[in-house]
Amino acid sequence: MKIGEYIRKIPKIELHVHLEGSIRPVTLLKLAEKNQVDLPVKTLEELKKWYQFVDFPHFAELYQTISKCIKSCEDIELITKDFLENQAEQNIIHTEATFTALTHYLNNGLDFADQLKAINRAKEWGWKKYGITLGIIIDIPRDFATQQQSMLVAEWVASSTRDGVVALGLGGYEVGFPPVMFRTAFDYVRSHGVPAVVHAGETEGPASIWGALNELGSIRIGHGVRSIEDKKLVQKLKTDKIPLEICPSSNICLKVYDSIHDHPVNQLVEEGVVVTINSDDPPMFNTNLMNEYQLIAAIFNYPPQQIKDFIIAGAKNSLVSKKEKQRIINKIETVSAGLLNPHANQPREDD
Ligand SMILES: [Zn+2]
Repeated sequence: MKIGEYIRKIPKIELHVHLEGSIRPVTLLKLAEKNQVDLPVKTLEELKKWYQFVDFPHFAELYQTISKCIKSCEDIELITKDFLENQAEQNIIHTEATFTALTHYLNNGLDFADQLKAINRAKEWGWKKYGITLGIIIDIPRDFATQQQSMLVAEWVASSTRDGVVALGLGGYEVGFPPVMFRTAFDYVRSHGVPAVVHAGETEGPASIWGALNELGSIRIGHGVRSIEDKKLVQKLKTDKIPLEICPSSNICLKVYDSIHDHPVNQLVEEGVVVTINSDDPPMFNTNLMNEYQLIAAIFNYPPQQIKDFIIAGAKNSLVSKKEKQRIINKIETVSAGLLNPHANQPREDD
């Protein structure tokens, strides 16, 4: 079987993708018009050009502009349904998506509880329509949240684990905002049994990842690619089986690496670090999860087994119940076996 076909057909898991950063271009333009937000672009063509980033702060500025196109909980429900439809089209059976509820609370006064209800309505719809599941990570935007706002987000998260919130995240520009600044908020959620999932080692080097691990107890690392610059850290990630949520195209578009050929994903795999593959903000980087797999499979010549390993690593490190994890893993293994050995389970003609 050709690798492209395997990637298309194998059920997939995604652990690092942002709801606001996944808004379909066509939906974004519609929301801007409906909500009278003056976007600097009016057509899909222009939008594509607009998504050319100079650096991370430029990207963050655009991200905020995009977020302003969301004005109501109906908008949140709409973008979540769109998102789930896109995941289903790629055969992504479980996703853990990050959502920056604080932005919509500050911009439009939307209550967190109402935002979450909107997401959960879409989630219910996605389950009924496509049989796919969604866990929500609510993050603290490190580059603009005050201490008080960070605690508010932590309180939202700690009180919402029964409503589908699976972790507290930390996103945004790392430079000048080290993990230790957010220790109180993360201590709080962890004392309530809620895990931390922190972006680190993307716009900053290894110190940021050490901080995410030692100060915030992060159980997975968002990106974490720059761990490759520190041998001890690579060893630590490997020994403690801390998975990295690697998003190759995002790192190229945001200029962490010049090209995919310079990207350390394969080095990290060879070092024995647990690696998962993700799309981050797919339309903003002109990609999606399937494309990310196609890209690395082509560059590093990965066989189906390696692709399956990435997906199983995602499943094993997802924040679902033990029983659900087993269900997901069984599904991936069964489909993979069928794809790689299509005649294994069929009775022979002379039986
Ligand atoms: Zn991210």
